[in-house]
Amino acid sequence: MPHIQVLDQITIDKIAAGEVIERPASIVKELVENAIDAKAAAVVVEIQEGGISFIRITDNGSGIPREDVPNAFLRHSTSKIRSVDDLTHVASLGFRGEALSSIAAVTKTELITKTREETFGTRYIIEGGQELSLEDTGAPDGTTFLIRQLFYNVPARRKFLKTAMTEAGHIQDLLMRLALSHPEVSFQFINNGQEKLRTAGNGRLKDVIYSIYGREVAASLIEMDYEKGGLHMKGFLGKPLISRGNRNFENFFINGRYIKSAMISKAVEDAYRDFVMQHKFPFVVLHFEIDGEDIDVNVHPTKMELRFQKQQEVYNTVYEGVHRTLLEPELIPVVDVPE
Ligand code: ADP
Ligand code: MG
Repeated sequence: MPHIQVLDQITIDKIAAGEVIERPASIVKELVENAIDAKAAAVVVEIQEGGISFIRITDNGSGIPREDVPNAFLRHSTSKIRSVDDLTHVASLGFRGEALSSIAAVTKTELITKTREETFGTRYIIEGGQELSLEDTGAPDGTTFLIRQLFYNVPARRKFLKTAMTEAGHIQDLLMRLALSHPEVSFQFINNGQEKLRTAGNGRLKDVIYSIYGREVAASLIEMDYEKGGLHMKGFLGKPLISRGNRNFENFFINGRYIKSAMISKAVEDAYRDFVMQHKFPFVVLHFEIDGEDIDVNVHPTKMELRFQKQQEVYNTVYEGVHRTLLEPELIPVVDVPE
């Protein structure tokens, strides 16, 4: 036998899955992003044991037509782009076509889905990358994924999972950010039968902030709406008095996508410098709209770190916008009216 051999497809998918699926929160991220891309108005996420043994994600989006179901689980299969040219103006959260094949490779996956046009829904079962069944089922319009036993067939990766509590915490953080990034979608998160998060989905960012962070934070916000040179920033800046001990309360979204950016963090923190004590970090929820041609989202499969073409310009605009917005309340005296 020759030493060098091409790996079989299931082994290839298991290895590739490692890039996309690190922990239960990675599965929730991919499936909820798919729900948002499918124009769902409501998404329910239920987990048991931190998502390690059980995740159920239900959406009322477009559903997947029967004839597309098996294809959706093939690697690099997507309905969202057709060629590299589409990447410059891709508006969906997903586009690599890697999530479903990766999830199915390392879990026991069950899908129930129905489009509005179909009379019957489809129930599809795929475990460790092996198709087990495809059949008719009664189902509401939309899609439900049931994901059981993450890494049941990859013990080497299962070892690296943390406690159920830690994994559930990652999922909750993720869902908070997804809720903040999509105020028009209602989110519900249930952990071991207990509701942990619920947002109204009425499109109002401030209501989402209230649902997540509570009344005190919601009452200490300055609205920001600033535009310059093709960069539009909208959202809420926390008044300096609610600044925090770490960066976890800096929430940035670009074109509907949660991102981390050392450069944007620095621009915001520099702008707050005159208002905030040292070693404190601002509370910020900011949505950026920027021309797709000026950013490159195709950096990493998890797509969190973005690349900017015009670094210095973006820094300057963010700094200026935040600084000016923070100065405003000082010019107009605020009279607190009791509710
Ligand atoms: P991508 O999101 O990059 O296209 P995925 O592997 O996540 O790749 O999904 C593959 C395809 O399956 C999607 O392009 C979409 O057509 C379909 N799909 C997945 N989840 C849903 C869903 N919740 N509702 C409707 N269609 C979905
Ligand atoms: Mg996807």
